[in-house]
Amino acid sequence: MPRVDRLLGHPRVLPCVRALGVARVTALVRATLEGARREILEGKRAAAPTEEEAAERVEAAAATAGDGVARRVINATGVVLHTNLGRAPLAPEALAAVARPGYAAIELDLATGKRGRRGASAEDALVALTGGEDALVVNNGAAAVMLALAAVAKGRDVIVSRGELVEIGGGFRVPEVLEASGARLVEVGTTNKTRAADYARALERASAPGALLRVHRGNFRMIGFVEQPSLEELALVARRFDVPLVEDLGGGALFDFAEHGLSGEPLVRDSIRAGVDLVCFSTDKALGGPQGGVVLGRRTLVEKARREPLARALRLGRLPLAALEATLQLYARGRATDVPAVALAVAPLDVVEARAARIAAAIGASARVVATDGEMGGGTFAGRPLRSFAVELPAELAEPLRAGDPSVLGRVVDGALHLDARTLSDDEATEVARLCVALGKPIG
Ligand SMILES: *Cc1c(COP(=O)(O)O)cnc(C)c1O
Repeated sequence: MPRVDRLLGHPRVLPCVRALGVARVTALVRATLEGARREILEGKRAAAPTEEEAAERVEAAAATAGDGVARRVINATGVVLHTNLGRAPLAPEALAAVARPGYAAIELDLATGKRGRRGASAEDALVALTGGEDALVVNNGAAAVMLALAAVAKGRDVIVSRGELVEIGGGFRVPEVLEASGARLVEVGTTNKTRAADYARALERASAPGALLRVHRGNFRMIGFVEQPSLEELALVARRFDVPLVEDLGGGALFDFAEHGLSGEPLVRDSIRAGVDLVCFSTDKALGGPQGGVVLGRRTLVEKARREPLARALRLGRLPLAALEATLQLYARGRATDVPAVALAVAPLDVVEARAARIAAAIGASARVVATDGEMGGGTFAGRPLRSFAVELPAELAEPLRAGDPSVLGRVVDGALHLDARTLSDDEATEVARLCVALGKPIG
């Protein structure tokens, strides 16, 4: 095996040491040599790498190790809200708000000079856009659910349908979040059928009724012999027993996608209209903003959530708050389709096809345009597909495109690479074509 100190002094590795520091690069060298050792043990290679070969590997590892989340990624997966890629791409207005230098009056009312409420402007905008009485912004959707349940039902029973005890992804499991909030889970109904009467019976028996919880099934669908009460019916039961109806809505749509033929994503304002007392949602899913979560609804209940000790631990940072404010302003000004996630979702199919055709034409005869199914992702639209078009290329291009800067991420389908045009802006489409051509026209 090449020696660690020799590799650290290698002309390929020296610039990496200058960029990343000696400790970081030493770790990369060790990991590279360890990887080579493992390959030999597993019979994947016959001999140790030469010093030159090992140095090349370290150089490649260092190229991606430095920038972390700062490295630009072009999303050609066709999944608009890709959780592994940071979900919603931010609007230029949101990015500009984040990049403003200096200080910000985050907890100061500049009109009076007195202490102000953190998040007040975003919360007021959410109230205006949804018809809720009050809103509280927190760090993410999971935090919103936990805080809402802690505020209204700590130490008490929360009634949930067995069909909604779901895992959302990333380890978010409804029973576990409920437990972490300090509430007690009471399951009712069956996996496929739960009726309003099931909730009422559970509330009659509960020694300490806390809340009714509805969980939106965003990332899967149940079909066939199924039944669940409407939100209006649930709200009636909740009123009768004087407990709040809490909804874990997931997506947080402020824009009516159904008007563009995209069904399946409920609107926040429809939940409020149906009588939900507290609705919880993410700000980086269907809303299209930065990571964040919202608890929204009745003033007294939101105020309770605001006063929970947990709220301080779950508060939203200044940068996402600035991005959220700017995103909500787009909605307030009637410019919802300028929110990138919304724009990508509602882009007409012929525009997407033309974008794919432009990339294919720039690459040459070996690239072809194919019809695909993209998706909104992020547990929205109940997993319904977003029709799309992709550029089909040899699968061998997947790795160099991913490792490039910017990194281009596609999808490998049946041994071919699909670069989906649904999730590309026009500028990105031009860039993707250029990057493919630069890879040395290895196609054909
Ligand atoms: C995504 C989702 C969550 C979690 O939201 P995060 O913003 O990822 O924390 C909770 N509930 C539902 C129904 C979801 O879809």
